[in-house]
Amino acid sequence: MRISCCIPHCKRTRRHDPDLVVVDGRVLDFGDEWICQKHWSVLPPALRREHVTAKRKVKRLGDMESEIASATVWRRCKDKASEIAFGLS
Ligand SMILES: [Zn+2]
Repeated sequence: MRISCCIPHCKRTRRHDPDLVVVDGRVLDFGDEWICQKHWSVLPPALRREHVTAKRKVKRLGDMESEIASATVWRRCKDKASEIAFGLS
């Protein structure tokens, strides 16, 4: 199974590489969504760092609060990368 880059119209795919984390007794897969290298590299470094930190925190704490925070940062990464891809900013 392959997954596609989250950015609309991006044709890049990669092999699904599960990145499992247990949050509140539920197993989540951080590997089921992906932003390709090209789109990831256009994001502001501060936002990329925020994502890495938030994800690490979920893995360490495994609680709902950090999961929600990391999902929020991830959504901002996707929105921002899409915006840049479409020349809106
Ligand atoms: Zn892409």
